[in-house]
Amino acid sequence: MNKNDLYTLTIESLGNEGEGIGKLDGFPLFVKDALPGDVIEVKVLKVKKTYGYGRMMKLLKPSPERIEPPCPLHRSCGGCQIQALSYEKQLEYKREKVKNQLIRIGGFSEPEVLPVIGMERPFRYRNKAQFPFGRDREGRAVTGFYAGRTHHIVPNTDCLLGAEENEEILKIILSFMEKEGISSYEEASGKGLIRHALIRKGFSTGELMVCLVINGDGIPGVERLADRLFQLPGMVSLTLNVNKKNTNVILGDKLIPVRGQTYITDRIGDVSYQISPLSFYQVNPIQTKKLYETALNYAELTGEEVVWDLYCGIGTISLFLAQKAGRVYGVEVVPQAVEDARKNAEINGLSNVEFYLGKAEEVLPGKYRENGIRADVIVVDPPRKGCDRACLDTMISMAPKRIVYVSCDSATLARDLKILYEGGYELKKVRPVDMFPHTAGIENIALLDKK
Ligand code: SAH
Repeated sequence: MNKNDLYTLTIESLGNEGEGIGKLDGFPLFVKDALPGDVIEVKVLKVKKTYGYGRMMKLLKPSPERIEPPCPLHRSCGGCQIQALSYEKQLEYKREKVKNQLIRIGGFSEPEVLPVIGMERPFRYRNKAQFPFGRDREGRAVTGFYAGRTHHIVPNTDCLLGAEENEEILKIILSFMEKEGISSYEEASGKGLIRHALIRKGFSTGELMVCLVINGDGIPGVERLADRLFQLPGMVSLTLNVNKKNTNVILGDKLIPVRGQTYITDRIGDVSYQISPLSFYQVNPIQTKKLYETALNYAELTGEEVVWDLYCGIGTISLFLAQKAGRVYGVEVVPQAVEDARKNAEINGLSNVEFYLGKAEEVLPGKYRENGIRADVIVVDPPRKGCDRACLDTMISMAPKRIVYVSCDSATLARDLKILYEGGYELKKVRPVDMFPHTAGIENIALLDKK
């Protein structure tokens, strides 16, 4: 098989990133945008030792699971991977993916993976978007989304996964930039001012926040931009974030208030949360409620328990648990998030929670060594890279009755569950929650009991 060869290929399955996989004489080819059941004409792009990559040139016979995707940019934009697959099949695919990873990476033979909790209406679910700014060939400012695996901007101001308000906000920013001669940042040269627009909406309150990430210390005429934006209903916060580094990381550390508050408020269930631009907040509030309710349910609290919530962000899960626990301790590494968390405990009148600033893998072992802290239940919700070994080892030494592991990456979840299993915990069940419809992503909650 050589590069640029054309073949007819039947797609048999989906890979972990949502790519179609078919075999040519037993040799697997990964093909973006191809779905199980499709028969396609494929062009070979790259051949490796045991697998290769191909491009779908023609769809010869579409899979019965293929639907007409509502977004015309679903192939060019890197945001969605499986929008052309019926939603029902997306959920089946995600459940299988989780199960396979628990078997392959986690070493579990028969893991109980419950059906995925899906969405009734799987569009317009994201409360946050980070739009990159760049320039078109004529040098005019554009915004949209990155094409898959590149930093090429596909112009688009209305993503169907995001809030409807994004479009109007972006148009106001683009027209302001044109009128005032404000440039977009260019990665290649490191020149230009506007890097990203971060927009967040509180779904339950309708509040809107705009934070412009800039390669500088201010935007000339920003008051005029504020005047325009604050005419939009719900607009409560405009801030600037300074990021002068040549990096892929979107946000810098410094926040400059421009108008209104420096946070928005949202509600999940009975708990209200203040969220600042630098804090993590789950992107799908409809599914987050189901996620937190499942976590609370798995924690089986009676009102007496000491609970640790590691990687707690703005205290979302901590406060959910605090409604039913004796005492909750949260640990989080971002200072602003811990500030939000403390404020959130206060505005909800929950006094049985305490937050520590620092890395979970340092705070927990440190407190365990020095103060001999204990826990009845430990909840963790780490970023994609999973938990640090030192954190897992301390959890095992603390020997809580139950561990509830919330994860947005099933591969690192499987890896960490294996360690906890070897440390004396039985994996009772895993419940996937679809927080990210049309993408290959899936959130999971695993329940472990002390053997
Ligand atoms: N449980 C929260 C946040 C989950 S996201 C929620 O549901 O909203 C993961 C969080 O872990 C982020 O807030 C991130 O800032 C934090 N984090 C990342 N690395 C960490 C570490 N080593 N120790 C503690 N917190 C960390």
